[in-house]
Amino acid sequence: MAPTKQRHGNKIPTIPQRRKTNQPRPNIRKTQKPILQKTRRTNTKTRTRKGSERMKKGFKHTEKTKRKISEAKKGKKQTLEHKRKVSEAHKGKKLSEQHKRKISESNKGRTVSLKTKMKISKGNKGRKHSLKSRRNMSKGQRGRKATLETRKKMSKAHKGRIISLEWRKKIGQANKGKKRSLEDRKKRSGKNHPAWLGGKSFKPYGLAFNKKLKEFIRKRDYYRCQECFKHQSELFTKKRKQKKLSIHHIDYDKQNNNPDNLISLCQPCHSKTGFKRKDWTKHFQKVIIREG
Ligand SMILES: [Zn+2]
Repeated sequence: MAPTKQRHGNKIPTIPQRRKTNQPRPNIRKTQKPILQKTRRTNTKTRTRKGSERMKKGFKHTEKTKRKISEAKKGKKQTLEHKRKVSEAHKGKKLSEQHKRKISESNKGRTVSLKTKMKISKGNKGRKHSLKSRRNMSKGQRGRKATLETRKKMSKAHKGRIISLEWRKKIGQANKGKKRSLEDRKKRSGKNHPAWLGGKSFKPYGLAFNKKLKEFIRKRDYYRCQECFKHQSELFTKKRKQKKLSIHHIDYDKQNNNPDNLISLCQPCHSKTGFKRKDWTKHFQKVIIREG
């Protein structure tokens, strides 16, 4: 065999040879069964250095090779460490328009599983779009009309939602100067208003829900808000007038005036019970059981 070309340094790869010993080979008698020992053969193929030589800047794999690599990688999961490294290396890099188009093209028609969606949502939590990004999104939505089905879905999702004061102010500002005709306003009032919850707030309180009953509950609760424990004597209106504790219906049923369903709350705490109703019901039912 002709000596292989030496490319790297002076080291010639040596093939490990069996150690020569003076000891005679153990004499295995024919009657003795030799112990079968499977020895794993190590890969003795000497690796060519071709690979690293080819990996020069600007080098590109052929389509065939790319397919092979992709095939070999299929199903393999990257370690967290590796993923972090890749992410680090890509940081600040901007994708070319062509590359972006390619990604978009390959993602077309792809559906994202709920699990993945949740992961994405988790990763995006607390993240905010930049003003520029928001403008771009708004631009993209302009003129677009949601289908009736989508609108119904959105309406359902928004029903009963409490809008923050800040947000309400923003809506008010955006609507400033806009005037609806009387007819239009009539169309949107009461039952016809998109936020109509079935006339909840118009339900009359049960007959027994009078001053006497309210005072009875306040006394039972030692004249303290059962959420923040402020005493009634510490409660004032904006005009510094003495304020009484509100009486809250724990199950939100205004007909249910059983004392077990009533609890004293200061106004700020009472207003908190407007949302997450189920949670509050559970919470106050526990309080009543404890006190009762
Ligand atoms: Zn309170």
